Formats: sequence, structure tokens, C-alpha cells
Amino acid sequence: MNGLEASGVDAEITIFSDEQYFSCSPKDRYQPADIEQFYADVYADIKRTAVSYPPRKTFFGDSVPCQLVDGEARFFRTEMFGGQTNIWGGTVLPLTREDFEAWPISREELEPHYRAMADSIGIAGQRDRVSEFLQLDYSTAPAVKQLDGFKFLQGHINAHSETADYRIYAGTAPSAVETRSEVATSCVQCGECMVGCARDSIYSARSTLKQAIDRGAIRFVPSAVRSIRPNRDGPEVCSLDGKTESFSKVFLCSGCVATTEILMRSLNMSTGPVLQDNSIAQFPILNLSRHSDGRRDEYFGLTNLLLLMAPTNARVSLLQVQLYPNVDYLWRTLVPGWSWKIARHPVRWFRDRLIWARAYLDATASHQYLVTLENDRVVFTEKNRPGKDAFARCVSSLRQALRGSAFHLLPVKPVVAHTSAHLAGTFPYGGDLAPVGRDGQVMPGVHIADSSCFPTSPVISPTLTIMANARRTAIEALQK
Ligand SMILES: Cc1cc2nc3c(=O)[nH]c(=O)nc-3n(C[C@H](O)[C@H](O)[C@H](O)COP(=O)(O)OP(=O)(O)OC[C@H]3O[C@@H](n4cnc5c(N)ncnc54)[C@H](O)[C@@H]3O)c2cc1C
Ligand code: SF4
Repeated sequence: MNGLEASGVDAEITIFSDEQYFSCSPKDRYQPADIEQFYADVYADIKRTAVSYPPRKTFFGDSVPCQLVDGEARFFRTEMFGGQTNIWGGTVLPLTREDFEAWPISREELEPHYRAMADSIGIAGQRDRVSEFLQLDYSTAPAVKQLDGFKFLQGHINAHSETADYRIYAGTAPSAVETRSEVATSCVQCGECMVGCARDSIYSARSTLKQAIDRGAIRFVPSAVRSIRPNRDGPEVCSLDGKTESFSKVFLCSGCVATTEILMRSLNMSTGPVLQDNSIAQFPILNLSRHSDGRRDEYFGLTNLLLLMAPTNARVSLLQVQLYPNVDYLWRTLVPGWSWKIARHPVRWFRDRLIWARAYLDATASHQYLVTLENDRVVFTEKNRPGKDAFARCVSSLRQALRGSAFHLLPVKPVVAHTSAHLAGTFPYGGDLAPVGRDGQVMPGVHIADSSCFPTSPVISPTLTIMANARRTAIEALQK
């Protein structure tokens, strides 16, 4: 949408999307004076409905459905207005120059679009070792406040960054979070990000789209798209409710899974695309230093510290590690509601003493799935599983970096998460399944504008790149 508006073409924009949550969500019941009770009610809902522990990140108690592979829940499949940005972690970084090696464009070509999207969504961040490594900093607002334990850990890692396999760069995670105190939606550090941000401090596409619809800038069709048909008058969008409509251009941005499904139906393709994910290893770090904010009630409940682990030899590849506090969410969803008044005190004490690391592996060492269309729906068959080697090297390098500090990696096996929700690569640029041009064109007048056309799923959180590349795609497609 940003790209279509920036292209200078006087275009009428129509979006098709599932209308779920559009006009009503539990958040609409929220009253600032009543925040304690609001979250207590949402926690009660989560405990009633969660099917596993720990429950997944929610949108005010509603979880996003997962795609099943061999009967096992694997990755999210959003059919909600605003997509996964309703529940995402908000970490926003540009990719490295090397990430663009298989792309038809360079990072330099994407830089103006990164800048435009950063200005549009707002990025809380600062210049530090992470931006120094990336050689780009798109911050528009002060960084999210880190807890003291994380600040100290950042200093220690940067002073001991050389390990056998990696050089580690530690910094605050650039985040799409409103931190300017003068803005009505500024973060108040209530720590409830895993439940849902009642103040809308975390950027969501839902808010942007709703505002655009309300001011009449775009036309909204509350219906899912089934397929696209070539037509004399331009590509014809066929929706699931049986209606059809022609447009001069169609941009597919329904997320990698749904875009793949729409394209496979449209191209009469029964099998072939390979979906890439980034697997995550999760493990605890104990902070026995005297640096802690354990008595403070305020904290930010998502990434407080980000590590980029740059390879120093050919045996390994870039890793991203996000470090989370010991959030109330993990414990409040476990203990009975009546006991929280007591349980909250020890949990708070451990907030930056028990740190949760999430290490993202690159796509070649992660889950990959062959996609097949059966009975008009996509089905996934596992093609690749994460190997233990990459996790082991990551853990051993972190252990080296922490040597001599009061931070300790606990001797427990990392828990492997099935998905990072960073899905990509089914119809890549330069792939042989279908020709995808640099403007994302995959059928006449039909352009891919999400991560389906990424050549690989990058280790670095992809959404800022999805946004910037969608903007570039729209501008290039319209200026042709
Ligand atoms: C828990 C979680 C945490 C995450 N944290 C981060 C993070 O910190 N940083 C980061 O960079 N990324 C993160 N991500 C990933 C990020 O959310 C996605 O990369 C991003 O949302 C992808 O955007 P998208 O618009 O391509 O797809 P989506 O967000 O999936 O949006 C697709 C939209 O298309 C709609 N749609 C689907 N099918 C159809 C159809 N047939 N017709 C019409 N509309 C349709 C959906 O309803 C939805 O509105 C996270 C994801 C999750 C789940
Ligand atoms: S801590 Fe999280 S939930 Fe609370 S206001 Fe900030 S962003 Fe929102």
C-alpha cells in the first residue's frame, strides 16, 4: 500500500482479506483505568483454552491456528485481518549485503525503501554494535528500555566477542514499538506483550489498514482470494465466495503459505514449491551478577538484547539470537489465578536473572517442506530437519563468550521450536518453478509482494525486508 501510494500513479486500491477481528476484538473492551482486570480476564481465557504449555503468543487470548504436518502443529497460518503482525515480536532489521547474493537486486537498491518503511512504522533503536555490524541504522525513536541484567550482559559480550567460530555483536533489538512518551500509544512497560499490547504500542498492519479504510483511501473486500485467472481486461481475482473481479495489477501479499496456495491453484501446479522456515533453539541463561532490575515492576516483555553471530570460518553461518526476560506470561499461565498475587514476587525477582535465549538457524539447517496441492488445499511434507551441529556450535560459542562472567548457560538440552514463523522461498526470484521477475511478476499483471519470492529464508527477522521489498515491487511494477 505504501508503495502504491508512493508510486505517484493515481491508482484505486482494493484489498481482499479475511474480515476476522476487523471490527471487534477483545482489545476493544480495554479501558486504561482497568488494565489489571483486563489482563486478569485475558489470562483466565488463555488458561481455559490453551492446548499446550507454554501457550503460544496470543492476540488477547486468541491464538493463531497452526498448519499441521503429519498431524503435528508446525507453523502459523494467519487468516486474520492484519496478519501475523497482530502477534509478532516487532524486531525489525535490514538484511546483510551477503543475504542479497541470490536476489536480483542489491541491498543498496533496497535502502531507500527500508528508510521509507522505517519512517512509516517507526523503529525504536539506537546506534550500537548491531547497527555497526549491519552498517545501517533506521531508528526513529529512542530504544526500548532494557532491564539492567541485559545491559550488563550486552557490555560483557561485546568485550568478549571473539569465539572459535563467531564474532558476536550485541545490541538492543531495533523494534517496531512506540517509545516516544509524548505519543498516546507509547509503551508503558507493562510487560504483557506476549498476551497482546492493549495500548497498540507494537506496530500492526491491522491498524494501518483500518485507518486507510476508515479514511476511504482503500476499498476493502472482506473475502479471501482463491485464485487468479488471466483475462483480457487484466488479471481476474476469484474469491472463495465465488465472486470475480478484474484489475490492472494484482499484488499477492497474503503471507508465504496463502500466496503459495493461490499461485499453485492459479498455475495449475500440483507440487514443487519448497517452503523454508528458520528453526529456533531455546535455552536459559542464569544471571548471578549483582546487576538486576528484579525489584522493578516495569519491563518490556519481548527481546531485550539481540546478538548477531557473524561467522569467522566457513563451517558456520550467520546466527541471530534474541534474549527475552523471564516474562510473567510463562508463569501466570501456569499458576492458579488466585495465587498470582503471591507468585508474582519471585517471578519478578527472576525477571532478568533467568534469561531466555532464542537462537535462529539459517534455512539450510532448518525445517523445509515440499508443498503439494491436494483437494484444493496445500499439504506439507517434511523435507529437511534441523541438525544438532548448528545448535551445538552456537551454544558452545556463547559459553565461550560468557566465560569469566556471572552469566551461565544452564546445562540443559536446548528446546527446538518447530517454527520461527519466518516462512519464505516457495516461488523464488530466479527459481525454475515459475519465472519471477525483479518486479515480482509471476503471471501477466500478477506480482508477488511477500516473502514467497525470497530466494532463501534469512536468519535475520524478515518483516522489515518484506515491507521494503513490497514497496519497491509496487513502485517498479507500476512504473513499467
Ligand atoms: C509469534 C510471531 C512472532 C514474530 N516475530 C517477528 C519479529 O519479531 N520480527 C519479524 O521480522 N517477524 C516476526 N514474525 C514474522 C512476521 O509476523 C511475518 O514475517 C509477517 O507478518 C509476514 O507478513 P505478510 O504480510 O507477508 O504475511 P501475514 O502477516 O501472514 O499476512 C497475510 C495477510 O493475508 C491474509 N490472507 C491470507 N490468505 C488470504 C487469502 N486467500 N485471500 C486474501 N487474504 C488472505 C491474512 O488474513 C493476512 O491478513 C513473527 C511471527 C509470529 C507468528
Ligand atoms: S510492554 Fe509490551 S504490552 Fe506493555 S505497553 Fe509496552 S509494548 Fe505494550
